[in-house]
Amino acid sequence: MKMYIAGKWVDKAQTIDVTNPFDGSVIDTVPRGEPSDVEAAIDSAERGAKAMAALSAYERYQIIHRAANLMLERLDDLGRTITLEEGKILAEGMGEAARAAETMVLSAEEAKRITGETLDLSGSSAGAGKFGFTLRVPCGVVAAITPFNFPLNLVCHKVGPALAAGNAIIIKPASDTPLSALKLTEIFVDAGLPEEAIQCVTGSGGVIGDAISSNPKVRKISFTGSRDVGEHICQVAGLKKVTMELGSNAPLIIMPDADLEKVAAATVSSGFANAGQVCISTQRVFASKEIYGDFIDALKPAVEALTTGNPLDEGVKMGPMIRAQDAERVDSWVQEAVSSGASIVTGGTREGTIYAPTILADVAPEMKVACDEIFGPALGVSRIDGIDQAIAMANDTNYGLSAAIFTENLNWALKFAQQVDSGNIHVNWGTQWRADLMPYGGLKESGMGKEGPKYAVEEMTETKMVVIH
Ligand code: NAP
Repeated sequence: MKMYIAGKWVDKAQTIDVTNPFDGSVIDTVPRGEPSDVEAAIDSAERGAKAMAALSAYERYQIIHRAANLMLERLDDLGRTITLEEGKILAEGMGEAARAAETMVLSAEEAKRITGETLDLSGSSAGAGKFGFTLRVPCGVVAAITPFNFPLNLVCHKVGPALAAGNAIIIKPASDTPLSALKLTEIFVDAGLPEEAIQCVTGSGGVIGDAISSNPKVRKISFTGSRDVGEHICQVAGLKKVTMELGSNAPLIIMPDADLEKVAAATVSSGFANAGQVCISTQRVFASKEIYGDFIDALKPAVEALTTGNPLDEGVKMGPMIRAQDAERVDSWVQEAVSSGASIVTGGTREGTIYAPTILADVAPEMKVACDEIFGPALGVSRIDGIDQAIAMANDTNYGLSAAIFTENLNWALKFAQQVDSGNIHVNWGTQWRADLMPYGGLKESGMGKEGPKYAVEEMTETKMVVIH
């Protein structure tokens, strides 16, 4: 496919291969953009932002709604594209495409709900007799830098709210998975968006990233990706707004009163969906000492039932990782844990990009599988003794994106919710759960700012204070 800059589909002599992670075959190519392409996109987006500002809220709603309908019409193609470029099983690819269309509907609705507030200025001694109110206005040009693992829905979480709020948007999709974002761009062009209000620039983040992040005409960066790239973007961004949706090593606590069959089912879906390449994947499982052995006995057959293979084949429950080097990295972390005293309950083998769904037992906090983000299909189980230790272990990390507890005890559940430093807390389900309308984002090094269309619109608008004297 071509990239979309200044209202035109643009090619380049240099291209990037987009490959199927399962077999390495080339499914398409995209242009290898350069910093000069970014500049052209930003200059055009400034004009696009003016065109957006001239639309009424209802017109923005209509365009985004039309785009959502086009997504539904093209759902099969979008779902298959996600699976082909990202490697998740087709059921998950179709699920992501359906969620993405819903994210767009939610965003369209938010276009009609952007309000300010009136202020009683007489509450301050200087304010008697004055009338005050706030206006929410678009930031102008918003940049969306997105990761490989949800190549459509996470792009929609930025594009939908940015346009709903009246901004122009520049998308920089992950180089492994740019096709879904380009197809979304095509949909917005077909839906009648002002042509310069959307730009999609493909190319290596290491080469074109700084040209986006450092440009003062970009007034807001919404980034989803790894912690280190996020920190780099913050360093070069200068004086502009940023939202950072970063990584995690999410903890799941199992108290002695939990229903272990339910926990095992939740752990499988929470730890191994998309081959564990989800920012809120369950990575650190802390099982109470009373049920530790029984839990592992319940989890092992459920994990072993995850058949791996070609994600397009029916019956396959888990596909490949995005790159062979990532599967090799997961393997080296598993081997490091084993050499430091952990044991493999199941898995621990690699075939190309496919890493067998893996459970490690007796994991210690200093092992890489516990203290770094593994972002792959392996989780570690450790023993805990009581709610206080559970909370301490959950908090023993630089991250804080999602945390979960299984218990029937309301006091334990509430204590966990209050004391664990995490942007999302789940009681009686795993860490990997999200409704696209909820406020979603991390604490600590998992990032700052919230997504979910209502909350992203707040992040992508500015407040002006008006005082009538
Ligand atoms: P990544 O390597 O950080 O890449 C994310 C995006 O940043 C890609 O588009 C990448 O482009 C771009 N990029 C790379 N270097 C850049 C630079 N110097 N300046 C600007 N942009 C740059 O992350 P990933 O491997 O795609 O995704 C996995 C990570 O995302 C995990 O850590 C995961 O936890 C996190 N994540 C977080 C959330 C959340 O909501 N909190 C959701 C999903 C994923 P290239 O592809 O061209 O390098």
